[in-house]
Amino acid sequence: MVFSTQKRFIAGVTCPKCALMDKMQAFSVEGVDYRECVSCGFLDEMRVFSAPRELNTRVTETVDVQVQPVKLMDPK
Ligand SMILES: [Zn+2]
Repeated sequence: MVFSTQKRFIAGVTCPKCALMDKMQAFSVEGVDYRECVSCGFLDEMRVFSAPRELNTRVTETVDVQVQPVKLMDPK
């Protein structure tokens, strides 16, 4: 989960410091997610929710192209 660089409130999240709900904002700085409490200023790096750097979306391309040489039959 990578947040936008713009701070956005996280609904239903309680601040671990001041225990106020819906005061937490999440934002991302250079690929690292942070959460910040607007009430007490608590700032924490969201390591737990940090997305893996490299998503395994790349499918190994096993293109089995059988090159068949075009033989032009030369009728005599
Ligand atoms: Zn707080």
